[in-house]
Amino acid sequence: MSRSAHPAGPRHADVLPEGHYAAPPTDLNTLDAKVWAQTVTRDADGVVSVGGVPVTRLAEEFGTPAYVMDEADFRARARAWRTAFGHDADVFYAGKAFLSRAVVRWLNEEGLNLDVCSGTELATALSAGMPADRVAFHGNNKSAAEIERAVSVGVGRIVLDSFQEIVRVAHIAQSLGKRQRVQIRITVGVEAHTHEFIATAHEDQKFGIPLAGGQAAEAVRRALQLDGLELIGIHSHIGSQIFDMSGFEVAAHRVVGLLKDIRDEHGVELPEIDLGGGLGIAYTSDDDPREPHEIAKALTEIVTRECDAARLRTPRISVEPGRAVVGPTAFTLYEVGTVKPLEGLRTYVSVDGGMSDNIRTALYDAEYSVALVSRTSDAEPMLVRVVGKHCESGDIVVKDAFLPADLAPGDLIAVPATGAYCRSMASNYNHALRPPVVAVADGEARVIVRRETEDDLLRLDVG
Ligand SMILES: *Cc1c(COP(=O)(O)O)cnc(C)c1O
Repeated sequence: MSRSAHPAGPRHADVLPEGHYAAPPTDLNTLDAKVWAQTVTRDADGVVSVGGVPVTRLAEEFGTPAYVMDEADFRARARAWRTAFGHDADVFYAGKAFLSRAVVRWLNEEGLNLDVCSGTELATALSAGMPADRVAFHGNNKSAAEIERAVSVGVGRIVLDSFQEIVRVAHIAQSLGKRQRVQIRITVGVEAHTHEFIATAHEDQKFGIPLAGGQAAEAVRRALQLDGLELIGIHSHIGSQIFDMSGFEVAAHRVVGLLKDIRDEHGVELPEIDLGGGLGIAYTSDDDPREPHEIAKALTEIVTRECDAARLRTPRISVEPGRAVVGPTAFTLYEVGTVKPLEGLRTYVSVDGGMSDNIRTALYDAEYSVALVSRTSDAEPMLVRVVGKHCESGDIVVKDAFLPADLAPGDLIAVPATGAYCRSMASNYNHALRPPVVAVADGEARVIVRRETEDDLLRLDVG
């Protein structure tokens, strides 16, 4: 996922160490709207605010580190996806990106459906009033108890991931006297990440049933024979942080090819096709994601064209954006603890969190940006690496970025675009207490997921 090194511009030190950084921005006080949530602004006093609440007040009231989520931005993005796809398609928010009861309520109000991939995510959805028939249940190893629960409450669909699961779900549904709506997840041999996709990817992965070798066709054959199942469609998910639609084009071509084979063999036209999620967002100023309406238009055109060519009725399309809905809506607020210049290399800035609240940099070599948010500065830009407080040298939050050279302990810095896969992947490494998620809207801030306490952790440790 990493980009090739950019030519470096002028900076404070003579020699630039190897790295993936752009030239220092000319003005570190200006916030790039592309990577920040919609209502984030820098006020006249130099303090950054979101939803009308200054970050200094948020830090005082809720402590740091904290995830700060712009509720208006979340709702606007959810609505944009909903509107873009209209009433002939469904948008399932991928709950694994970030799920809480407040988020479920917002999704419900904005007309989005929800993807879950565990019994506990399902429980969260139901407890916040998401109707079960608007929930899709995913996963490559759903337990019998999870399947039973999903079928009993009447989830809208279960996405089948293996031959064994086809039989398992059919059996459980039948024993409950139900016929479960299902899709089959296939792998089409397309792998897409950021700016490239591979049309002939090895299907060497744990998810889905390969189209290759007729395995997907065989799965369909079996599913159609089982009384407990109502096969409604085919599912394909090709990657993450994708900007280029051509991967979807190849995937849709292959999925529609299967639909055509199914029609020819069984005389059945499956009514649905799900193209998964994976749409990219801007983590840094270099990223240029597409708008939901452009994505909707492109995907609809691709599927319609492929179906026309195969003389199939165009099935109902669904998509499953997670990151593209929630990612840009939040930032992580940290307090600077130490600033350690390493001569000729870079300056290490330690914050009061780290890989326990954002594992993506360590796990995927992800790129982020960062800004000083508690004040402005006219100091020169300095090349920094923002690191956490954990006992691990890979504990990096932002690999390469520029912050003002007068940065000091006590300053607040924020890392934008941390709404997806940060709180949901957070850990208790070093017995870190997982940060709260604070939702801000119309000048008010409220905790939607509270900070963990020492008591929370010690309660689990039963001695
Ligand atoms: C992870 C995942 C998604 C969401 O991916 P994003 O990159 O967050 O959009 C959607 N569908 C499936 C099946 C997934 O595994």
